[in-house]
Amino acid sequence: MSDRGLLIVLSGPSGVGKGTVRKAIFESDDNDFQYSVSMTTRPMRPGEVEGVDYYFRTREEFEALIASGDMLEYAEYVGNYYGTPLPYVEKTLQEGKDVFLEIEVQGARQVKEKVPDGVFIFLTPPDLHELKNRIVNRGTDAMEIIEERMKVAREEIEMMALYDYAVVNDEVPKAVTRIKNIIASEHFRVDRV
Ligand code: 5GP
Repeated sequence: MSDRGLLIVLSGPSGVGKGTVRKAIFESDDNDFQYSVSMTTRPMRPGEVEGVDYYFRTREEFEALIASGDMLEYAEYVGNYYGTPLPYVEKTLQEGKDVFLEIEVQGARQVKEKVPDGVFIFLTPPDLHELKNRIVNRGTDAMEIIEERMKVAREEIEMMALYDYAVVNDEVPKAVTRIKNIIASEHFRVDRV
């Protein structure tokens, strides 16, 4: 039996609501898993907090961490870097605690290669049309950024084959329950005990 924690990866297309679902999961206090705060070079949005939503860094700082091998995964997404700092993940897994990542699909593919026994969960929109409305209604991005995010989203949906589970995000509380159930069940898999 492994004493290491499980690495749980929540991914899915842009605008599907990964961030909202992840926040809803961590708003409850009955979780047995730890959130890995990502690093990004994109500007902070109103209401975001350093070290809570992201670690906000310059491109130079981010590239230095890539070069020193301190990122578990990273991706360039709509002109900015996003990535998972490795030290926190490694330390927490070693302590036997589960770690939860919420990342886009290029990063999830890298994690799948490095940690094949992770739990890979793909969050899907009820349909693509609704996805566009959600991206537009968020209202924080310019039209050309929205179009670019849509193109990325179409490609991302084709990538579902890499994942262990697909969860429809029709209603956030339902998606949260589904994800928590998946994580709980993973601990009882015969090949993990
Ligand atoms: P946003 O700019 O809306 O916060 O995030 C844009 C995209 O980056 C989302 O799809 C989000 O899931 C993804 N993302 C957030 N953190 C990471 C990370 O550490 N690595 C990767 N690869 N993607 C991330």
